[in-house]
Amino acid sequence: MMPFRRYIPLLALLPFVLVPLFVSDTYIVHGVLAKVCIYVIVVAGLDLVSGYSGDISVGHAGLLAVGAYTSAILCWKLQWNWWGTVPVSILFTALAGVLLGVPALRLAGPYLAMTTIAFGLIVQTIVNESEKLTKGSTGITEIPRLRLGSLSLESNNFYYLTFVAMVLVLYLKRQVVFSFWGRAFEALKENPLAAECSGVSRYRFKLGAFIISAAFTGLAGALFIHLNKYCGPLSFSLQFSIDFLIMLILGGTRSMFGNIIGAFIVVFVPDFFNNIAEYQLMIFGGLLLFTLYFLPGGIIGLINLLARSVGALFRRRRDAVVTAATPRTFPGEQLSPVPEVAHQDAATMQLQAVYRRSLPAGTGSSGHEAAAALLKTEELTIAFGGLVAVNKLELDVRPGEVHALIGPNGSGKSTTINMLSGVYRPTGGRIRFADLPLGGAPHNISRAGIARTFQNVALFGDMTLLDNVLVGLHHTFSRITLLDLFTASPRARREERAARARAQLLLEFVGLGDLANERARNLPYGKQRLLEIARALAQNPALVLLDEPAAGCTAGEISAIDKIIGKMKAAGLSILLIEHHMDLVMNVSDRVSVLDFGQKIASGTPAEIQRNERVISAYLGAPADELPPAAAAAV
Ligand code: ADP
Ligand code: MG
Repeated sequence: MMPFRRYIPLLALLPFVLVPLFVSDTYIVHGVLAKVCIYVIVVAGLDLVSGYSGDISVGHAGLLAVGAYTSAILCWKLQWNWWGTVPVSILFTALAGVLLGVPALRLAGPYLAMTTIAFGLIVQTIVNESEKLTKGSTGITEIPRLRLGSLSLESNNFYYLTFVAMVLVLYLKRQVVFSFWGRAFEALKENPLAAECSGVSRYRFKLGAFIISAAFTGLAGALFIHLNKYCGPLSFSLQFSIDFLIMLILGGTRSMFGNIIGAFIVVFVPDFFNNIAEYQLMIFGGLLLFTLYFLPGGIIGLINLLARSVGALFRRRRDAVVTAATPRTFPGEQLSPVPEVAHQDAATMQLQAVYRRSLPAGTGSSGHEAAAALLKTEELTIAFGGLVAVNKLELDVRPGEVHALIGPNGSGKSTTINMLSGVYRPTGGRIRFADLPLGGAPHNISRAGIARTFQNVALFGDMTLLDNVLVGLHHTFSRITLLDLFTASPRARREERAARARAQLLLEFVGLGDLANERARNLPYGKQRLLEIARALAQNPALVLLDEPAAGCTAGEISAIDKIIGKMKAAGLSILLIEHHMDLVMNVSDRVSVLDFGQKIASGTPAEIQRNERVISAYLGAPADELPPAAAAAV
C-alpha cells in the first residue's frame, strides 16, 4: 500500500486553518473552533475504544478532568510552565486508563461502561471535596497565559495550537488503525473466538486502545483549561461524557471526518439555538435515536453512501464495456483443484523453510526419538452438566504425523479440539505439548504452536483474504512497539511488508492467491475452508487441528485439501484431522483414533481401523457381521 496516499484526506483539513484569516470574531475562533478541536481529540480517542474495540466508555469526561486538573494544579500550585505540564497530564490520564481498564476489560460485557460511569462520578466527588488542592466547587482560575517563546498563544493563536494538537492526534490514531492493531480490532470485533485462536489477545488490545484513548484525553484536558481560563468540577459532568458518545455516534465511528463532524454539530447546535436551550437534551436525544435507527454509520456513513452512489452513476457506462469484455469468473466458479505447479513448489519450499519450528529436546524427529509424542492427552475429560462429552481420552500425535480423529456425530471430536485449543477448559486430565503442560487462553496456545480451523467456518467476513491471513501472522509483530507505529519506523514498515509477502505466499499455497483483495464473505464455502487453513498456517504452528476441513466441499475442493494436507505433512507439520470423508481420512492419515460417546474405542493404522468391528458397529449402529460386505467396506 502507498503510505503517502493514506494521508491525503488530511489535506481536507486545510480550510479549517484558514478560518481565522476571514473570521476575526474571537468568540467563534477561540470559543467555538478551538473547542471543536479539543473535543475532536477526545472523540478520536473514544473512537478507538468504542468504534474500533467495541467497548462503551461513559467516563471520558472524568479522564478529561484528570488531564485538566493535573495541568491546572501544576501551573497554579507549583508555578510550572504549562508546556511542562502537558506530558504529566498525558501520563497521569493514561495511568487512570490503566487503573480503569485492567479490571474492567478482563471481563466481557458492559463492565467498562459501568466502571467508567462510577469513575466519572468519583472524580467529580474527589475534586469537590479536596478544597485545598482543587478549590472545590469554586474551581481554579489561576490559569497562566500561554506563550511559545515571544509568541502569545492567546485568542486566535490558541485555536492554531489546538488545531495542531488535533491533527497530531488524528495522525497518531491513523497510524494505529492502519497497522496490525487495526487488524486486531477488526478481527476481535468480527469474530472474537477466531481472533483469539489466531493468536490475538483480546484483553491486550482492548486495554491498549483504552490507554491510548486516555492519553489523548489527557492532552485534551491540558488544553481544555485555556478555553475559559478555568478548571472547575461542573465542566466534567456525566452529561459531558455522554455528549462525547453522542458526537462519536452522530458523526460516525471509525472515521476521522466522522469524529470532526460529530464534534462540530454538538458544539454548534446549542450555540445557534440559544433560545431553545431547555430542549437541548431532547434535540440531541432525538438526533441520536434518528442516527441509530436510520444512519447506523453516522453522518459520515451517509456522506460515503452518497459519494459512492454518485461515483457509481459516473462509472456505470465504463463498466458496461468492461463487463462485456471480461467474463466474470468469481464467485461461484469451480475451484481449480491445485495451485499452479511453479507456484506450488515455491510455496512448499518456503513453507518448509518457515515452518520447521525448533521444538524442545525430546520431541525432535531425529533418530529413535521420532516416536515421542508431540501432543499427548492423559485422561482428558470434560462434562457439560451431566453429559460427559469426552471421557478419559488418551490421544497422542507424533511429530510429522497426520492423526485422524473420527467418530459419529456428537461423539466429542470438536469438543476435544476445543479443549486442545483452549476454547474449553477440561474438567479433568492433562494435556502435554512438546513435553510441557499445555493450558491457558486460546491466544497463548496459538503462540505455543497449535493452530486450528473450525467446523463452522469462522472467518473475518468483512476483511479481505489477505487481511484474514495477516491476522494469523499477528505473532510476527511482537517486537513492534507503539512508538514504532507512531513514528512509522523502518522496522515497523519492514515487518508489515514481510508479513504481507508471507500472507500472499500462504494464499498461493492454498490456491487463493488471485483473490487476495476479495472480502472473505464473498468466497464460496469450500474456499473459505482453504482460507482458514492458510490463516492457521500463518500462525507458524507445529501442530494443526483441522475440524472437518472437507465438510460441504466439492470433489475438486476435497482433492485440493487432500494435496494441501500432504504438503503440510511434507513440510514437517503434525496434523490432527477430524473428518467424515473416509476416503480422504484413509488416504492421508498415518494413524486413526475413533471416538464414540466421548470414549476412544479404537486406534491404529487406517487399514486396521477399517477392519475393526467396534468401529463398524459404532458407525453403522449394527454388528459388522449383519452388514452387507459393501457397507462394511464403505466405512
Ligand atoms: P462431534 O464429535 O460431532 O464434533 P461435539 O464434540 O461437537 O461432537 O459434541 C459432543 C457432545 O458434547 C454433544 O452431545 C454436544 O451436544 C455436547 N456439547 C458440545 N459442546 C457443548 C457445550 N458448550 N455445552 C453443552 N454441551 C456441549
Ligand atoms: Mg464436530
